[in-house]
Amino acid sequence: MTLFEKIIARDIPADIVFEDDQCLAFRDISPQAPVHILIIPKKAVARIGAAQAEDQSLLGHLLLTAADIARRENIAPDGYRLVINNGAHGGETVPHLHIHLLGGRPLVWPPG
Ligand code: AMP
Repeated sequence: MTLFEKIIARDIPADIVFEDDQCLAFRDISPQAPVHILIIPKKAVARIGAAQAEDQSLLGHLLLTAADIARRENIAPDGYRLVINNGAHGGETVPHLHIHLLGGRPLVWPPG
């Protein structure tokens, strides 16, 4: 069981900001911006590269949920960033798909 599956199961505590039947969103334990929230599917999809055609509506739901949370966190007017790290060079450390929602300060580009 991955770390994020344990958070879904409430075996590990997290600061949960949103939940529905398909996804869970919680604050990153090591925030890289004033707002840093992870949006994850409840389904155990390892990474975006492992998603299948059957996950199409789930992936859309995750993105729309991220935009909703950004509005609720009041970072939408100034802007924010959504990030998905995939594999070793992408910086993925937890093998359960997650979208990083980052905002609350200007973010530099390129991301390094
Ligand atoms: P990634 O490097 O894209 O795989 O992102 C994994 C993220 O999970 C990192 O930003 C970590 O800070 C975050 N993280 C690790 N453990 C926890 C935890 N127990 N609760 C919340 N976030 C976590």
